Amino acid sequence: MSQQILNYVDGELKPSKNGTTIDNIDPSIGRVYSTLPASSTEDVNGAVLAAKKALPQWSGLSIEKRSKILHRIADNIEARREELALAESVDNGKPKHLANQIDIPRAAANFRFFASAIVGNSTDANVMEGQAVNYTRRKSIGVVGCISPWNLPLYLFTWKIAPALATGNCVIAKPSELTPMTAFLLSDVCIESGLPAGVLNILHGYGAEVGQAIVEHPEIKAISFTGGTNTGKKLAATAAPMFKKLSLELGGKNPNIIFEDCDFDEMLETTVRSSFTNQGEICLCGSRILVQNTFYDRFCSAFVDRVNKLVVGDPLTEVSMGALISYDHLQKIKYYVALAKEEGGTVLTGGREVRISGRCAEGYFYAPTVIAGLGNGCRFNQEEIFGPIVSIIPFKSEDEAINMANDTTYGLSATIWTSDVKRAHNVAHRLEAGVIWINCWLLRDLRTPFGGMKASGVGREGGDEALRFFTEAQNVCIKL
Ligand code: NDP
Repeated sequence: MSQQILNYVDGELKPSKNGTTIDNIDPSIGRVYSTLPASSTEDVNGAVLAAKKALPQWSGLSIEKRSKILHRIADNIEARREELALAESVDNGKPKHLANQIDIPRAAANFRFFASAIVGNSTDANVMEGQAVNYTRRKSIGVVGCISPWNLPLYLFTWKIAPALATGNCVIAKPSELTPMTAFLLSDVCIESGLPAGVLNILHGYGAEVGQAIVEHPEIKAISFTGGTNTGKKLAATAAPMFKKLSLELGGKNPNIIFEDCDFDEMLETTVRSSFTNQGEICLCGSRILVQNTFYDRFCSAFVDRVNKLVVGDPLTEVSMGALISYDHLQKIKYYVALAKEEGGTVLTGGREVRISGRCAEGYFYAPTVIAGLGNGCRFNQEEIFGPIVSIIPFKSEDEAINMANDTTYGLSATIWTSDVKRAHNVAHRLEAGVIWINCWLLRDLRTPFGGMKASGVGREGGDEALRFFTEAQNVCIKL
């Protein structure tokens, strides 16, 4: 019998009120292995009641006590790292070793970071000499909603939940319906860590149903969302007339700008990683590789050689890439490779499904794919694909590289490779992207602002930005 995932409401694990379920597929074998509740508005209403009941005590708890509980959750995630990494790999298709090294440690770090951040946090005071003193109080918002995608399931889920809880809010959270397992296991971690009932409520189900019901609920005062740009638009249209606070982390079409004077070997290794880590299913992956024309041929040949060494296979073994998230996503990748050819592109390597023998024979595997010969303006280079496909485009001058990098509706992240420090800063300052890496990629400090410009989002997460998002500023002025 397949494993049954349950909602976590008012401190208890339970099915959805209507009792219906959704099949959950292991993408590496292409078969159902568990079920999750198909929650609806009724479940959201129940979760909001539980959250409201828990709110006065949780928001009134001393910072030290709240911090202690959140540290305990971090401890218990760390203690269950192997179990959670295996669950993440089975649910998402990503290599287990990647979940073990990145996803799960980062989920624990998210709780630990915000548990510590609230202890060290202070608020502003402004003195009007001889007249008055102002101090700014940062109060919790109340009941907030957190909605996350399938690509880094527990990593992104906890990136929202941890600051929301740390600042004294009660939370209604929904993971992607495609990857509910580690959110379910987190419910258990919270119970064993002594998180009071109703403080965190996790509802499973379809985005268009339970997700939409969370966004529509009048007593959920803020929504932190990570997902696609189109879903973000829909959310904003629902939430804006209700004056909800909104944080939107959306899609990207990130450029890697590579100048001839870079450290070639380091650039090559990192560019392979930034293209294909997690099957290219990371919003920060660089999908447009802009290469200075003076060494374009050398780059293409070295890059393709290196990509050909990547191993695609059973995610429970030591592979470079596992399975794509779903059958539908595999079809989307195939569609975009066909589009690249139609638009005049050449497949330098990949461009095909990968068949794995044995256990994973029915899984959704695709080869890392490199396309060349397409202009920046074509659909392939403009639309977010979110898979193991990159495009290489040559440029002649710094200006041309910057113009191409910015010529997209998105503005999430960018990577610059050069050993000229002046150029590195000048190019960075001219790029329309919220996160810039110079001579590195995915090096993350949780104190820094994280988020995108243009169609990549609204607002920033991380450090003080997250603490500010999940609180209301209230200024108190006292006449002297
Ligand atoms: P989706 O936008 O499809 O879904 C994101 C979440 O929203 C899921 O939990 C989904 O539920 C839910 N949802 C869907 N419709 C609604 C709705 N009407 N109301 C409320 N919630 C809804 O994104 P994906 O899960 O496909 O994730 C991939 C996308 O996420 C990519 O575009 C990627 O760039 C982006 N992303 C952005 C990041 C960033 O930091 N900027 C980081 C990671 C990913 P369900 O799955 O059940 O439909």
